[in-house]
Amino acid sequence: MSNNKYKRILLKISGEVLMGSQPYGIDLATVGRVADEVAALQKAGAQVALVIGGGNIFRGLAGAAKGIDRVSADHMGIMATVMNALAMEGVLASRGVGARMLSAIAMPTVCETYSAAKGIYHLEQGRVVICAAGTGLPFFTTDTGAALRAAELKCDALFKGTSVDGVYSADPKTDKSAKRYDKVTFGEILTKDLRIMDPAAIALARDNNIPVVVFSIREPGNVAKVFDGTGLYTIVEKE
Ligand code: UDP
Repeated sequence: MSNNKYKRILLKISGEVLMGSQPYGIDLATVGRVADEVAALQKAGAQVALVIGGGNIFRGLAGAAKGIDRVSADHMGIMATVMNALAMEGVLASRGVGARMLSAIAMPTVCETYSAAKGIYHLEQGRVVICAAGTGLPFFTTDTGAALRAAELKCDALFKGTSVDGVYSADPKTDKSAKRYDKVTFGEILTKDLRIMDPAAIALARDNNIPVVVFSIREPGNVAKVFDGTGLYTIVEKE
């Protein structure tokens, strides 16, 4: 099965991917590797919008657990996504890949403020659009931000790059009997609590009929392979 039927893709990468083998922060060599994956996806014919998490730097829940007000802690997490987006924009530019970062929180001296119309314009101009600052709101995650932007930017699919090669019935690292799915429905993800994304993100993708393609981003060259249908992935779709 080829995924080339998808013209416009929202690629979600968790912040942790950008740590590489470091325990924390941004490993620029890894950002470079992911940027190469993005460039390859574009070369294969896709329009690419990116949402990058912030968990390599700060997570709101961790800050709240240590006594920071949840709203402030989430704003710190949101700022972490902005740092990752700046790193990715810079690294893509250094490779000659046109990219525009659009932030859900206005910071006009840093980058353009997000709007769906601007995002679609840049995608149509052949630029990678990096949607920074998640939804711009506390109590949300970048997974939900990714599903929201995928709907707003009229993406044909949401590609979720993770550290495993698809959706399993249990954690394959700890449960040897875990079953891997090639295909699964949104309903099964929610009822079996498979937790590949927040339930809010899954519900948003389901309600807007945007398939979610789950694959390993740790394997070099895999994003373009998943796009052309030769890579390993799980597709989450309606019945
Ligand atoms: N965050 C938020 N609203 C959003 C997106 C992110 O408040 O719309 C905050 C939240 O504190 C979260 C942090 O930013 O913990 C980092 O995002 P996320 O955990 O989604 O990153 P990932 O796990 O993908 O690296």
